[in-house]
Amino acid sequence: MARAKKTYAFKEVYPGIFTCPLPMPDKKLGPVNVYLFPGPCTTLLDTGNVWGTKPLSQALAGLGFRFDDLDQIVLSHGHFDHYGAAYHITRLASKPIRVAAHREDRRVIETGREVPDAVILEFVTLMGVPYFYRYMLRVTSKVLQRMGSNCPVNQVLEDGDTLSLGHYQGRVISTPGHTRGSISIHLPGENILFSGDHLLEHISPNALVMLDPEQPLPRRLSQEEFFASVHKIEELQPRVVFPGHGLPIHDLAAVGQKYRNSFLRRQKRILGTVAGEELTVFEIVRKIFPRLNRLYLFLDIYLAVSEVYSHLQVLEKEQKIIKRLHRDRLLFRAV
Ligand SMILES: [Zn+2]
Ligand SMILES: [Zn+2]
Repeated sequence: MARAKKTYAFKEVYPGIFTCPLPMPDKKLGPVNVYLFPGPCTTLLDTGNVWGTKPLSQALAGLGFRFDDLDQIVLSHGHFDHYGAAYHITRLASKPIRVAAHREDRRVIETGREVPDAVILEFVTLMGVPYFYRYMLRVTSKVLQRMGSNCPVNQVLEDGDTLSLGHYQGRVISTPGHTRGSISIHLPGENILFSGDHLLEHISPNALVMLDPEQPLPRRLSQEEFFASVHKIEELQPRVVFPGHGLPIHDLAAVGQKYRNSFLRRQKRILGTVAGEELTVFEIVRKIFPRLNRLYLFLDIYLAVSEVYSHLQVLEKEQKIIKRLHRDRLLFRAV
């Protein structure tokens, strides 16, 4: 029996605001939500990855829209599942569409790279990632880069900027942590918020290391920045949060608490792992996530290394661990 072709459609999630979940290869994260604000400044918030261009055009047609009807694309952050189709949409439209993103994610959206490859290589080497995994990580990152097309950003956003979104007025809130240029969009008149990947209900968003183009070890503490961003949103007490994946969040306090609990659990686990023995980040990862070795999920290995290191940065600041360089890798031990 032939498999029925999946159809994609927008549904109204708030008066005059529509969402459509677009396909994603990552089952854990689930489909990526894009939001359409029709009106005087018809806006698409996030685009899905490059494979989502066709489903998106089908979903728009269901509402009687074409890419030509879009005035603006706003990107919540520089991950391919959110910006990947932006370039194709602008190319397929017969009139210019403004593409807006935060200053700090502009580089990755325009070039596909946050930092030079050499910096990533030096970072994973310092983390003790063996050569085979480093090689496979490079291959994986090349595959992932194909899921997004580089797209020029012609409106650079900053915290506090205002945006017209269909019939609504929105305010840009800089919420770094998941990426350095992650933004949330607050509609003050409605007190609802669009969070990108900063807040998700079904999964704790990764506060990925913010690699520095000039040096192999990141200076910024992404965990600290992430929780400062969570606090910033909690202060607004939005009635509903519309995330980049999964269902709308109605109980933000519960989600915030879940994040804090999981942060503390992970800190404790890492500290316990390096009590009495010196380990590289890769060795810590293997102890904490033993399944990763079996599954050979190279991207997951990078995400796990990134997460563990971001926790170690906080533990080091709190003087709970010390690190030393041994040959070309860093070793960590509890104080
Ligand atoms: Zn993301
Ligand atoms: Zn995402």
